[in-house]
Amino acid sequence: MIDVILKKGKEKAVLHRHPWVFSGAIEKVKGKPENGEIVKLIDAKGAFMAYGFYNDQSRVALRLLEWDENVVIDEQWFRNKVKEAVASRDNVLIAGVTNTCRLIFSESDYLPGLIVDKYADHLAVQVLTSGIEKMMPAIIDELNTLLKPLSIFDKSDASSRGHEGLETQNIVLAGSHPPARVEVIENGIVYNINIAEGQKSGFYCDQRDNRKIVAAYAKGKNVLDCFSYTGGFTLNSLQNGAASVTAVDSSVLAIDTLKENVLLNKFDAGKVSTIASDVNKQLRKFREEGAFFDIVVLDPPKYAPSRSALDKASRAYKDLNRLGMLLLNKGGLLATYSCSGAMNMETFKQVIAWAALDAGKQVQFIHQFCQPEDHPLRSSFPEGEYLKGLLCRVF
Ligand code: SAH
Repeated sequence: MIDVILKKGKEKAVLHRHPWVFSGAIEKVKGKPENGEIVKLIDAKGAFMAYGFYNDQSRVALRLLEWDENVVIDEQWFRNKVKEAVASRDNVLIAGVTNTCRLIFSESDYLPGLIVDKYADHLAVQVLTSGIEKMMPAIIDELNTLLKPLSIFDKSDASSRGHEGLETQNIVLAGSHPPARVEVIENGIVYNINIAEGQKSGFYCDQRDNRKIVAAYAKGKNVLDCFSYTGGFTLNSLQNGAASVTAVDSSVLAIDTLKENVLLNKFDAGKVSTIASDVNKQLRKFREEGAFFDIVVLDPPKYAPSRSALDKASRAYKDLNRLGMLLLNKGGLLATYSCSGAMNMETFKQVIAWAALDAGKQVQFIHQFCQPEDHPLRSSFPEGEYLKGLLCRVF
C-alpha cells in the first residue's frame, strides 16, 4: 500500500477523526496511487494515522476510512459498512407507514461519496468519489443480497462528480430500469416518484419528520406551501385536516405530480390550489392581492452552495422570509428552512430576526427543525449537517 505523508502541524483533524485531508495538508506521496486507490496516511515521524481513498483531482485529496492500523480494508469492510447503515434504518422504515428513506449518507455512514435512497422496492444511488466507484461491484452485490431491490439506478449528481474528475452517469446498475412512476409511502401518505427524471434522487425524504411536525398545526388552517415540489408539506397538511392549501413551485413537472399525489391519496382536490411560478414573484403578487394565510412554509433550494456565498444567500433568505411573514394572519406560523450547509442555525436565527424587523413583525421561535435520523450527523464530521429550520409564531 502506498504511503502518504501528512505535513507536520496538520495532525489535529485526523486525530479527531475528521474524514477529510485537503491536498494542501499533504507533504509527500510515496509513489503514484491511482485515483480512488486506498493509501496509508502517516505523520511526519512515520507513524500510522489512517487509511483512506486517494484522489489527486479533488481538493479533498484523502477521504479517510479507518483509523485502526490492524483493520484490513477489503471488500468485506465495505460490505460491513453497508450492512450496518441499512440495519440502522429499521426505526424509520415502518410497514404500511414509511417505505422510503436514505439508507446510506456518505461520510456520515462511514462511506465517503456513497448515497443510497430507498423508494419502496427500488434504490437510487449516487456515486460521488472515485474510491467508492471502485468498490461499487461489491456494494451493489451487498445491496442486492440485503434488500433484493427490483432496480438499482445510478442518479449521480453531475457537479459533485466533476470535483473528483468523474463523468456524469445515469444508468441502471442492477435489475431493470425503474418505472416512470414508483409508488412510495411516507408518514402514511402515498407519493408517485420518478426516480430517473425527478429532482435530486426523486424525492426529498429529509423533510419527512418536519412535514409531520408542521402538519400537526394545520387542522382547519389555510396553508401556503412554497417550494412545494411534489407536495410533501401540502399532503401532510391535508391529511391533518387543513382547510385549504396553496402550493407554489417553479417546476411544472413537480406541480403536475403534486396534483396526481392529491388524487392518489383521495384528498379533496377542491381544497388545493397550485401555482407553477417563481415563489418570490408569487409572494409579491399575493401581497398586492391582499391574500393572507395561517401557515406559510418556505423550503427553498440551497441558496449558499459554499461559505463564500453566505452573505448573498443571507440577503436572499431574509427577503424571502420577510415576504412570507407579511402574508401571515396575526399569530400565524412560518415554517422556514435552509438546506445550505454553510448557514448554521445561529446565523439562520439572525437572518429570521432581520426579516422580522424589516417586516415590522415580532417572532417567537417555537420549534427548531433538523435533519432526520436517516441523515445522521457524525460527531467528527460537522459538514454533514445541512438541513435546519425554524417554526416561528409571527405577530
Ligand atoms: N418542500 C419540498 C422540497 C422542496 S425542494 C418537499 O417537501 O418535498 C425545492 C423546490 O424549489 C424544488 O421543487 C424546485 O423546483 C423549487 N424551486 C427552486 N427555485 C424556485 C423558485 N425560484 N420559485 C419556485 N420554486 C422554486
